[in-house]
Amino acid sequence: MVSRVIPVEPFDLVIFGGTGDLARRKILPALYRRFCDGQMPSEARIIGAARTQQSAGDWRGWVGEALEEFVAAARREPQTVAAFLERLDYLAVDAKGDGGWQELCDRMREGVVQAFYFSVAPSLFGDLAERLHQFGIARADARIVVEKPFGTDLASARALNRTLSEYFSETQIYRIDHYLGKETVQNLMAVRFGNVLFEPLWNTQYVDHVQITVAESVGVGGRGAYYDQSGAMRDMVQNHLMQLLCLTAMEPPSRFEPDAVRDEKLKVIRALDPVLPEDIVRGQYKASDKGPSYREDAENEASRTESFIAMKLHVANWRWNGTPFYLRTGKRLKSRKSEIVIHFKEPPHSIFDEDAGSRANVLSIRLQPDEGIDLRVTIKEPGPGGMRLIDVPLDMSFAEALGADGADVPDAYERLIMDVIRGNQTLFMRGDEVEAAWAWTDPIIEGWTKRGDRPFPYDAGSAGPEEALMLLHKDGRRWREIG
Ligand code: NAP
Repeated sequence: MVSRVIPVEPFDLVIFGGTGDLARRKILPALYRRFCDGQMPSEARIIGAARTQQSAGDWRGWVGEALEEFVAAARREPQTVAAFLERLDYLAVDAKGDGGWQELCDRMREGVVQAFYFSVAPSLFGDLAERLHQFGIARADARIVVEKPFGTDLASARALNRTLSEYFSETQIYRIDHYLGKETVQNLMAVRFGNVLFEPLWNTQYVDHVQITVAESVGVGGRGAYYDQSGAMRDMVQNHLMQLLCLTAMEPPSRFEPDAVRDEKLKVIRALDPVLPEDIVRGQYKASDKGPSYREDAENEASRTESFIAMKLHVANWRWNGTPFYLRTGKRLKSRKSEIVIHFKEPPHSIFDEDAGSRANVLSIRLQPDEGIDLRVTIKEPGPGGMRLIDVPLDMSFAEALGADGADVPDAYERLIMDVIRGNQTLFMRGDEVEAAWAWTDPIIEGWTKRGDRPFPYDAGSAGPEEALMLLHKDGRRWREIG
């Protein structure tokens, strides 16, 4: 399989927060991999910016170490690494002061794409936008990339949108949700809208229910204090799970273009019914041999923040009326697994004997690990003994199907950063989408806060609290196994 790499235009990419964790683990390794695949023109340049006073050489050394840690050895040929590091420059810049800004202005070039990655705490986004404007650095066609979290509620998201829009137009703002950059998530659209097979069945008449799971095996560990201010609802549901729900439930856009896709996603969020208290289960993991309890990790013995949430949602429109969407996400669960699972209804009438069994088709879209798509279909169990039905998978693992080893499936950040350079906003969230998601989230959080609900404790390494299993049991359904 020959990969088709489309080169991008020459660019200046400034990474604010160039000395931070995200830059080290994700952004710089992603850029390096794109460089290896020949996607970076020779005039492309990456400038790290942060308060730390250091030379460009020092920063290159640090980036080299990051590549050693986060890029597979097979892709780290010394000449290639050296050629990549030559593209890097560094400037000490303070988002809250005047230091470094004039130098940054002087280093920007005309005639190349200009992109500024805000990989810093959200409280600095406004300062960066203002300084880029004040020092005349950002051109009218410059792009800014904004990391999550985009606000902590509707009011703060609105305020952030307002601040950014003082200096940048919506077409310049790229709000990242890295789930949208995953190969499988885009494949969800390819499967739905590139085949005639699924779309006629993609509605309440044929779909019994949908499950969206993002399970993590790790706890909140070192970021417990930060996490305790947020919880699974704000950290995962409002953004990542909501985006997956939107792509699953949306109407076909007229074209695969930014606003056409984002208009349809927005309609899904606006069609969500308020969630009933009995359709929400929150949990906190207990202490185990895997580590301390959530409350110990959060250093807050009285914490009521959830490290797990499961909920049942209804999309109130013609397509989905009567088909529940079950969402769940949590920390310290049985394994790391993210998937969207479409459970189709059973055939309306069975022509086989009662003991043949009955089966429903299940389509699962795996985001991690091992990105791929699996459709379970019913066949006859081979051999004598009459007609007995079993279900077997038609499985497409991308790594296998594309003849690549797992490491060659591009990382979400690789695609998203290149989309920024290309000026393609399809896989980025629009301001009104983010606000609509918060407008849906806020009353849910207010509701459990007012009621004084406490999260249920759950065993580390489990599938969450018992009560979450009951959420489906009472509807006569079962969650898919996590691992
Ligand atoms: P981090 O490790 O704390 O890094 C913060 C960066 O900001 C550092 O490079 C720091 O460098 C710089 N910085 C701090 N104050 C500054 C100032 N006044 N002016 C200029 N630079 C300043 O944070 P991170 O984990 O990389 O996260 C960055 C952003 O990505 C955050 O919005 C976070 O929520 C988001 N995010 C991170 C992850 C992740 O896995 N890490 C995942 C999703 C989203 P100096 O100290 O040298 O100034």
